[in-house]
Amino acid sequence: MKIAIAGSGAMGSRCGYMLHQAGNQVTLIDLWPEHVTTINTQGLSVETAGKQRFVKIPAAFPEDVHDDFDLILLFTKAMQLNDMLNKISHLLTDNTAVLCLSNGIGNLETIKKFNSHLDLLVGTTLWTSELVGPGAVVLKGSGYIEFQAIENVSHETVIKINDVLNEAGLDARPSNNVLLSIWKKACLNSVLNTFCTILDCKIMDLRKSQYTPILTKRVVSEFEAVAQAKGIPLTAELASKTINASLAPNQAGDHYPSMHQDIASGRHTEIDYLNGAIARMGKELNIPTPTNTLITELIHAREDTVIKN
Ligand code: NAD
Repeated sequence: MKIAIAGSGAMGSRCGYMLHQAGNQVTLIDLWPEHVTTINTQGLSVETAGKQRFVKIPAAFPEDVHDDFDLILLFTKAMQLNDMLNKISHLLTDNTAVLCLSNGIGNLETIKKFNSHLDLLVGTTLWTSELVGPGAVVLKGSGYIEFQAIENVSHETVIKINDVLNEAGLDARPSNNVLLSIWKKACLNSVLNTFCTILDCKIMDLRKSQYTPILTKRVVSEFEAVAQAKGIPLTAELASKTINASLAPNQAGDHYPSMHQDIASGRHTEIDYLNGAIARMGKELNIPTPTNTLITELIHAREDTVIKN
């Protein structure tokens, strides 16, 4: 299959690499000049289990790509999505399916607002990856991809995409309720990512504080109220179960979550698509969301202290 990855950071590079290794014709599209240049000159550096290899996969800026793709995988950060859609608009043809796997609440709305006629699928993934520098990713652990056709996509296309993802070892599974999974993951990230960023601690350290369950309960109950009003069947019980599983002694990571890493490297976070989305929707729906609003403001305040422009 001819596949473009639009947003080839940590996750885009991981998926692009795996799809390339499975024999697909992959193009890595990105906006970071150093990243694109490094991949094209030395190859994409992929480190797995301490072993590094350089893989030749073409990388390009959106404006330099003029091709017809069967599939475009959108993998920007949520706040970069609209800009990327604008920059790849010439690639969004009638024969191209678009699958967005970025985290956060509101990506579907962003895409539909941009173009409501796309052959659109959205999903979520439990794979992880780290971009350790331009042109260099470190792959750890395993995961899966859950996805669902939203608009204009035939059953045959879903099966084809599912097969291509599975042949690449990405363990894909079509879903009947991907929005629930997306909201559940957003709720998890709205607790673990934000708490670790505000408290400057690793995920496992959250276990030490008696305030973690108290604050979690507040975040989760506001998520439930807004989700129910939006017709998303997320309950506080379901969200808490996911969060508690991630905080279990054998699961709670000895690492900083990605939002903490974004702040550490002076970058914007996805807060407006996590707690911020709940705060925004709560306001629209007249549902009180004081905890998610405060957390959003605290993370934006953290951003203000580290981002230069
Ligand atoms: P990323 O930050 O690695 O990359 C996103 C974009 O930012 C890419 O275009 C990348 O080139 C650019 N970028 C990264 N570092 C940069 C720098 N220093 N200077 C300039 N540009 C830079 O994002 P990601 O981790 O691949 O995440 C993409 C989406 O996938 C997000 O919605 C994220 O929440 C989600 N996600 C990430 C992981 C993970 O383990 N990284 C896991 C699951 C889902």
